[in-house]
Amino acid sequence: MKPSMKTAIFPGSFDPFTIGHYDVLVQALKLFDKVIVAVGYNSTKKGQGYFCPSTRVKIIKEAVKELENVEVCSYTDLTISLCRQYGAKFIVRGLRTTTDFEFESVIAQANKKMDGELTTVFIPASQEYSYISSTVVRDVLIHNGDASLFFPPQVDIKKFIKEIE
Ligand code: ADP
Repeated sequence: MKPSMKTAIFPGSFDPFTIGHYDVLVQALKLFDKVIVAVGYNSTKKGQGYFCPSTRVKIIKEAVKELENVEVCSYTDLTISLCRQYGAKFIVRGLRTTTDFEFESVIAQANKKMDGELTTVFIPASQEYSYISSTVVRDVLIHNGDASLFFPPQVDIKKFIKEIE
Protein backbone atom coordinates (compact mmCIF):
# COMPACT_ATOMS: atom_id res chain seq x y z
CA MET A 1 0.00 0.00 0.00
CA LYS A 2 1.29 3.47 -0.94
CA PRO A 3 1.90 5.55 2.21
CA SER A 4 -0.24 8.30 0.67
CA MET A 5 -3.18 5.96 0.09
CA LYS A 6 -6.31 7.27 1.79
CA THR A 7 -8.23 4.45 3.42
CA ALA A 8 -11.54 4.92 5.24
CA ILE A 9 -13.55 2.58 7.42
CA PHE A 10 -17.34 2.67 6.96
CA PRO A 11 -18.55 0.98 10.15
CA GLY A 12 -22.11 0.08 11.11
CA SER A 13 -24.43 -2.64 12.29
CA PHE A 14 -25.71 -3.01 8.70
CA ASP A 15 -28.57 -5.25 9.86
CA PRO A 16 -29.15 -5.15 6.93
CA PHE A 17 -27.07 -3.01 4.51
CA THR A 18 -29.61 -0.93 2.53
CA ILE A 19 -29.58 1.13 -0.65
CA GLY A 20 -29.06 4.15 1.65
CA HIS A 21 -25.81 2.63 2.95
CA TYR A 22 -24.81 1.75 -0.61
CA ASP A 23 -25.34 5.35 -1.70
CA VAL A 24 -23.09 6.61 1.13
CA LEU A 25 -20.44 4.06 0.13
CA VAL A 26 -20.49 5.17 -3.53
CA GLN A 27 -20.04 8.78 -2.42
CA ALA A 28 -17.20 7.78 -0.06
CA LEU A 29 -15.37 6.06 -2.93
CA LYS A 30 -15.09 9.44 -4.64
CA LEU A 31 -13.14 10.73 -1.63
CA PHE A 32 -10.98 7.75 -0.66
CA ASP A 33 -8.68 5.29 -2.45
CA LYS A 34 -10.13 2.40 -0.49
CA VAL A 35 -13.18 1.93 1.76
CA ILE A 36 -13.55 -0.94 4.23
CA VAL A 37 -17.21 -1.66 5.02
CA ALA A 38 -17.08 -3.11 8.53
CA VAL A 39 -19.94 -4.92 10.27
CA GLY A 40 -19.62 -4.19 13.97
CA TYR A 41 -21.22 -6.55 16.46
CA ASN A 42 -20.94 -7.53 20.09
CA SER A 43 -19.51 -11.05 20.30
CA THR A 44 -20.64 -11.51 23.92
CA LYS A 45 -24.35 -11.13 23.07
CA LYS A 46 -25.85 -14.23 21.50
CA GLY A 47 -28.84 -14.10 19.17
CA GLN A 48 -28.75 -10.34 18.69
CA GLY A 49 -29.86 -8.80 15.43
CA TYR A 50 -32.02 -10.00 12.57
CA PHE A 51 -29.30 -11.29 10.26
CA CYS A 52 -26.22 -12.88 11.84
CA PRO A 53 -22.95 -11.01 11.22
CA SER A 54 -21.76 -13.50 8.55
CA THR A 55 -25.01 -13.08 6.55
CA ARG A 56 -24.72 -9.28 6.87
CA VAL A 57 -21.22 -9.55 5.37
CA LYS A 58 -22.55 -11.76 2.53
CA ILE A 59 -25.30 -9.24 1.71
CA ILE A 60 -22.74 -6.42 1.58
CA LYS A 61 -20.39 -8.50 -0.61
CA GLU A 62 -23.25 -9.06 -3.06
CA ALA A 63 -24.06 -5.32 -3.02
CA VAL A 64 -20.47 -4.25 -3.74
CA LYS A 65 -19.47 -6.96 -6.22
CA GLU A 66 -19.26 -4.47 -9.13
CA LEU A 67 -17.38 -1.82 -7.15
CA GLU A 68 -13.61 -1.47 -7.00
CA ASN A 69 -11.52 -0.54 -3.95
CA VAL A 70 -13.99 -1.92 -1.41
CA GLU A 71 -13.33 -4.55 1.25
CA VAL A 72 -15.90 -6.06 3.58
CA CYS A 73 -15.18 -7.40 7.06
CA SER A 74 -16.73 -7.81 10.50
CA TYR A 75 -15.27 -6.81 13.85
CA THR A 76 -16.05 -6.92 17.54
CA ASP A 77 -13.58 -4.51 19.08
CA LEU A 78 -13.42 -0.72 19.03
CA THR A 79 -13.70 0.97 15.65
CA ILE A 80 -10.44 2.83 16.38
CA SER A 81 -8.64 -0.52 16.74
CA LEU A 82 -9.96 -1.60 13.35
CA CYS A 83 -8.77 1.70 11.87
CA ARG A 84 -5.26 1.03 13.22
CA GLN A 85 -5.34 -2.51 11.83
CA TYR A 86 -6.05 -1.17 8.32
CA GLY A 87 -3.91 1.97 8.63
CA ALA A 88 -7.09 4.02 8.10
CA LYS A 89 -7.19 7.61 9.31
CA PHE A 90 -10.82 8.21 8.33
CA ILE A 91 -14.19 6.93 9.51
CA VAL A 92 -17.20 7.44 7.23
CA ARG A 93 -20.71 7.80 8.62
CA GLY A 94 -23.93 8.70 6.85
CA LEU A 95 -26.24 11.47 8.06
CA ARG A 96 -29.98 11.56 7.45
CA THR A 97 -31.34 13.90 10.11
CA THR A 98 -30.27 16.26 12.88
CA THR A 99 -30.87 13.36 15.27
CA ASP A 100 -28.25 11.35 13.34
CA PHE A 101 -25.90 14.32 13.61
CA GLU A 102 -26.33 14.63 17.39
CA PHE A 103 -25.69 10.92 17.87
CA GLU A 104 -22.80 10.78 15.40
CA SER A 105 -20.98 13.91 16.61
CA VAL A 106 -20.65 12.46 20.13
CA ILE A 107 -19.17 9.22 18.78
CA ALA A 108 -16.85 11.15 16.46
CA GLN A 109 -15.59 13.25 19.38
CA ALA A 110 -15.03 10.18 21.57
CA ASN A 111 -13.08 8.48 18.77
CA LYS A 112 -11.01 11.64 18.21
CA LYS A 113 -10.25 11.79 21.94
CA MET A 114 -9.03 8.17 21.87
CA ASP A 115 -7.05 8.64 18.65
CA GLY A 116 -6.18 12.20 17.65
CA GLU A 117 -5.08 11.02 14.19
CA LEU A 118 -8.61 9.98 13.23
CA THR A 119 -11.09 12.15 11.33
CA THR A 120 -14.76 11.24 10.96
CA VAL A 121 -16.25 12.27 7.63
CA PHE A 122 -20.04 12.70 7.47
CA ILE A 123 -21.74 12.06 4.17
CA PRO A 124 -25.29 13.34 3.77
CA ALA A 125 -27.97 10.88 2.67
CA SER A 126 -29.31 11.44 -0.82
CA GLN A 127 -32.81 12.82 -0.57
CA GLU A 128 -34.44 9.76 -2.17
CA TYR A 129 -32.95 7.41 0.42
CA SER A 130 -32.97 9.58 3.52
CA TYR A 131 -36.08 7.90 4.98
CA ILE A 132 -34.54 4.42 4.79
CA SER A 133 -33.31 2.81 7.98
CA SER A 134 -32.33 -0.77 8.75
CA THR A 135 -35.04 -0.75 11.45
CA VAL A 136 -37.81 -0.04 8.92
CA VAL A 137 -36.38 -2.57 6.49
CA ARG A 138 -36.27 -5.26 9.21
CA ASP A 139 -39.94 -4.55 9.97
CA VAL A 140 -40.84 -4.94 6.30
CA LEU A 141 -38.88 -8.23 6.20
CA ILE A 142 -40.53 -9.56 9.37
CA HIS A 143 -43.99 -8.84 7.96
CA ASN A 144 -43.20 -10.31 4.53
CA GLY A 145 -43.39 -7.00 2.68
CA ASP A 146 -41.50 -6.30 -0.54
CA ALA A 147 -38.15 -5.43 1.00
CA SER A 148 -36.31 -5.53 -2.35
CA LEU A 149 -37.34 -1.86 -2.77
CA PHE A 150 -34.81 -0.94 -0.09
CA PHE A 151 -31.77 -2.77 -1.48
CA PRO A 152 -29.51 -2.14 -4.46
CA PRO A 153 -30.92 -4.17 -7.40
CA GLN A 154 -27.92 -6.54 -7.41
CA VAL A 155 -28.91 -7.86 -3.94
CA ASP A 156 -31.30 -10.80 -4.02
CA ILE A 157 -32.55 -10.39 -0.46
CA LYS A 158 -35.00 -13.32 -0.71
CA LYS A 159 -32.03 -15.69 -0.87
CA PHE A 160 -30.73 -14.35 2.46
CA ILE A 161 -34.14 -14.42 4.15
CA LYS A 162 -34.24 -18.18 3.45
CA GLU A 163 -30.96 -18.54 5.38
CA ILE A 164 -32.63 -17.41 8.62
CA GLU A 165 -35.81 -19.47 8.22
P1 ADP B 1 -25.24 1.87 13.55
O1 ADP B 1 -26.06 0.77 14.15
O2 ADP B 1 -23.79 1.73 13.81
O3 ADP B 1 -25.76 3.26 13.78
P2 ADP B 1 -26.32 1.50 10.87
O4 ADP B 1 -26.04 0.21 10.23
O5 ADP B 1 -27.73 1.77 11.28
O6 ADP B 1 -25.27 1.63 12.02
O7 ADP B 1 -25.85 2.70 9.91
C1 ADP B 1 -24.50 2.90 9.57
C2 ADP B 1 -24.31 4.33 9.12
O8 ADP B 1 -25.10 4.59 7.96
C3 ADP B 1 -24.73 5.37 10.16
O9 ADP B 1 -23.85 6.45 10.07
C4 ADP B 1 -26.13 5.77 9.71
O10 ADP B 1 -26.46 7.08 10.13
C5 ADP B 1 -25.96 5.71 8.20
N1 ADP B 1 -27.20 5.47 7.48
C6 ADP B 1 -28.17 4.56 7.74
N2 ADP B 1 -29.16 4.62 6.83
C7 ADP B 1 -28.81 5.61 5.96
C8 ADP B 1 -29.42 6.18 4.79
N3 ADP B 1 -30.61 5.78 4.36
N4 ADP B 1 -28.76 7.17 4.15
C9 ADP B 1 -27.56 7.60 4.61
N5 ADP B 1 -26.95 7.14 5.70
C10 ADP B 1 -27.56 6.14 6.36
